[in-house]
Amino acid sequence: MMESEETRTEHETGAAQHDTGPKAEETPTPGSAGRVLLHICCAPCAVYSVQALKAEGFEVTGLFYNPNIHPAAEYIRRRDTLLQFEAELGIKVIYKDAGYDPQIWFREVTFREANRCFHCYRIRLEKTLFIAKHGRFEYFSSTLLYSTKQKHEVIAGLARDMAADGPNRFLYRDFRVGWQEGIEKSTAMGMYRQDYCGCLYSEVERRKKEVAGRKE
Ligand code: SF4
Repeated sequence: MMESEETRTEHETGAAQHDTGPKAEETPTPGSAGRVLLHICCAPCAVYSVQALKAEGFEVTGLFYNPNIHPAAEYIRRRDTLLQFEAELGIKVIYKDAGYDPQIWFREVTFREANRCFHCYRIRLEKTLFIAKHGRFEYFSSTLLYSTKQKHEVIAGLARDMAADGPNRFLYRDFRVGWQEGIEKSTAMGMYRQDYCGCLYSEVERRKKEVAGRKE
């Protein structure tokens, strides 16, 4: 996702913790680091994230579950972009199109609009953990950790809390280090790159000037 603005939560103010997933030097063989279910918010954000995890030796399976995306035509466009490029990225992707139910998302954020990103992250991470559990993935993670526009510590804090002592470990990586590289590669690949985060609110924020600019 490319943009978001929201109020801060307790997760942002807490000290960053560091997970204990395998490090690159410990996992040189492709696939030997374990299986990770990677929630993918959009194809451009997956470019660097997938590359980094594969370089560490993880077997990466993507999960496209994003009921936040508005409107449906935009959801289809982002999904189809990932469909188009998943082979090039070298991953298989689980698409949860049946989960594209705007009611789920709007009900979760209604009357909590000021803190909507927290709930938006939570919905998507909960689904990722659920599927990771049933698919017996050792790890789960998200490309939301790639964006410099997202609330990185909120996402990491939520995922850590969810994973707790369960069998599916949250694989924390600060994919933001590859921000520019990901932009350049996704552009070179000819990927569609959206200009707003995803929800209706974020689109209105993005187009604020255009909406307000018309002379009466
Ligand atoms: S889609 Fe909206 S609520 Fe979700 S992270 Fe982006 S700006 Fe926040």
